[in-house]
Amino acid sequence: MSNEKADYIVAGGLVVRGTGITREDILVKGETITEIGPDIPQDRASIVVDASGAYVLPGVVDAHNHPDNADRIETFSLSAAFGGITTVVPFVRSQRATGAEDTTVEAVNRFIDEANETSYLDFSAHAILLAADDVEEQVPALIEMGVISFKMFMTYPRRGMMMPDDRMLRAMELASRDGGIAMVHAENGYCIDHLVDQFTADGNTSAEYFAQSQPRILEIEAVNRAATYATVAGCPLYIVHLSAREVLEVLTRFKGQGLRLFGETCPQYLDLTNQEMLDHGALAKIGPPLRERPDNEAMWHGLASGLIDTIGSDFCGFKQEQKFTGGQTAGPVEDTNAGVDSSIFDANFGGNWAEQMLCVAFEEGVNRGRVTLPRLVRVMCENPAKIFGLYPQKGALVTGSDADLVIFDPSVSHTLSADAQHCNADFTMFEGKQVLGKPVFTMQRGEVVIQDGEMKRARGRAKFYPGKREDAAYAPSGHRLVGV
Ligand SMILES: [Zn+2]
Repeated sequence: MSNEKADYIVAGGLVVRGTGITREDILVKGETITEIGPDIPQDRASIVVDASGAYVLPGVVDAHNHPDNADRIETFSLSAAFGGITTVVPFVRSQRATGAEDTTVEAVNRFIDEANETSYLDFSAHAILLAADDVEEQVPALIEMGVISFKMFMTYPRRGMMMPDDRMLRAMELASRDGGIAMVHAENGYCIDHLVDQFTADGNTSAEYFAQSQPRILEIEAVNRAATYATVAGCPLYIVHLSAREVLEVLTRFKGQGLRLFGETCPQYLDLTNQEMLDHGALAKIGPPLRERPDNEAMWHGLASGLIDTIGSDFCGFKQEQKFTGGQTAGPVEDTNAGVDSSIFDANFGGNWAEQMLCVAFEEGVNRGRVTLPRLVRVMCENPAKIFGLYPQKGALVTGSDADLVIFDPSVSHTLSADAQHCNADFTMFEGKQVLGKPVFTMQRGEVVIQDGEMKRARGRAKFYPGKREDAAYAPSGHRLVGV
């Protein structure tokens, strides 16, 4: 114990970790947590942050987001910060699907430059591998840069995004060889395109046909196929945005066979159904589609039981007008025409879910008794940090970890709405939802980020965190990918 004064003491709160909840105080000096324990004298720090009556959580690590439309990293990270997120791991891809000649390494470097200048939150990065990317060259180079996770799309063949199976298998082999991890968007793209063509030919292009054009069987099939390839390649696998209840059986089987398999779901798949699509059309268009109430319940069951390991936001910030433009490009908003008559199949995929994610998960999960708060901290903070090589600097409240923390007041009742959010996207599918509990204070590396409802941190203070690769030399118990 040093006699030198700490900068902050976060006092009187209930500290939440994956293992449980304890009444402890936290001392912060510089960028780091220097001590945690009960009844630390307040005069040991210059500034007292009162957390009494509230929970203290590690900052949320959002490992699924796409800040490249109306919201780039600047406004995405601003919005995320208000939602109790302190670390973001965006997906970055080359522009080769649109005929450019750049590489994924160049795209990641561009992203890091932009985020260094404009992000409000610390960040890491996942690489998206497209069919046109040279995986033999790019995968080892990216891992060397600290980009250790590689997402591949099993769908969207006509947009140049689908990775053919043989190339996916090879990319998995390359990733696992150098200590990386594969990620997949698991839906069967050929079948989706086939069904979309059929519905379109029959003139059935309204919102009610969307879910039917992307049925659950195509997710179940692709999860099974991706896990099979990962088993053959010996590669850890993270499956993003699980939505269909039947995938739990597939996870059970492959996890039981020893595959290092991690499942993610999102707040929208925990709380919303296809009714949103019927009510709001293109605004609710996401892939996989919103499904049914029993699927929401199954996702909660998966989170509680350990079959599903994380919650990510899948944030993609579009203005309402952009949702109707189609083509999945940023496109000038003024050219658009929010045509209710246009085909649902031409609308853009994606929605903004980050700022509301923690509040929705707390309300629907903890307040309704579906998961414990420690389990929520595990799936929103600890597990994503562990899986992507950021732990224990991120995702943990322990001595020596980064002083990234959130004070969450469980007694604040508020209504989620687009008016209250801080991104450029101008709608939320959670509009009008009443929740109990709100992040009221956020700190990152010893700097106050959110206080009194305001952003206190300047842009450009954020840092890139390279993912630590999996080290085969570790004993199994110390293995990065075990025990999450
Ligand atoms: Zn996504």
